[in-house]
Amino acid sequence: MEAVFARGDRRLGKVLEEAYKRGCKFDSWRENFNFASWEESFRKCNLDMSFYAHRKREKEEVFPWDIIDCGVKRQYLWTEWEKARQEISTEDCRLSYCHSCGLEDTCSEIVKNYGD
Ligand code: SF4
Repeated sequence: MEAVFARGDRRLGKVLEEAYKRGCKFDSWRENFNFASWEESFRKCNLDMSFYAHRKREKEEVFPWDIIDCGVKRQYLWTEWEKARQEISTEDCRLSYCHSCGLEDTCSEIVKNYGD
């Protein structure tokens, strides 16, 4: 469910409402979580959980969260995604060098003061 909602889009709003009407609330408490109700809510809204949680994303796909600009470049995030899939880590820029993530104009004070 976390994967579905983390990667989901605005269409999930009607699923949320439907699940709520079916009694889904406080779902992070195991004793309250009713997966069957969520499945039924998705079915009623003609949406597929797997579409959100398991589908492979292509590089050029427009993501629901693309409307948010946190400063980090999309290309940087995509490269990090590809590296993660290859189990390649990126060194902490505070301890190594700048990876040009896109925050160059705002990060310098944080990076400079690291460890103080
Ligand atoms: S030093 Fe700043 S711009 Fe460079 S990778 Fe780190 S956070 Fe990003």
